[in-house]
Amino acid sequence: MENCVFCKIIKGEIPSKFLYEDDDFVIFSDLNPRAKYHYLAVPKQHFATLNEMNSKQAEIVAKILKKIPELKDVLHLENGFRLVINQKGETGNDASQEVPHLHIHILAGQKMSWNPA
Ligand code: AMP
Repeated sequence: MENCVFCKIIKGEIPSKFLYEDDDFVIFSDLNPRAKYHYLAVPKQHFATLNEMNSKQAEIVAKILKKIPELKDVLHLENGFRLVINQKGETGNDASQEVPHLHIHILAGQKMSWNPA
């Protein structure tokens, strides 16, 4: 997808260090970390939201969820972690999805409060 920052990262057009990569997805550090460790797990196929996701892409998201805990040493997840998907809605963007390419935030490395609003 042209002009998609995550597609550009995946294609190598924007430099980024992948902490994990396979045929279906990559994990790299968030540019503007909101926790001591903040990564983004990003499917290589471009789709913006869970609403747009087809069943093949849903399998990739399930694969990402299975893989994340297996990467606990690489991602510093020993003390636990939080996963977040911010999703734009049809009539608004309450969750403030900034990049319209589905991604899972992985937050770890510090005690987190539970106050999303
Ligand atoms: P969201 O608001 O859920 O769409 O989150 C988008 C995230 O992408 C934000 O946390 C940004 O800091 C992050 N981000 C934007 N551009 C880059 C980039 N070039 N490299 C790494 N992270 C990025």
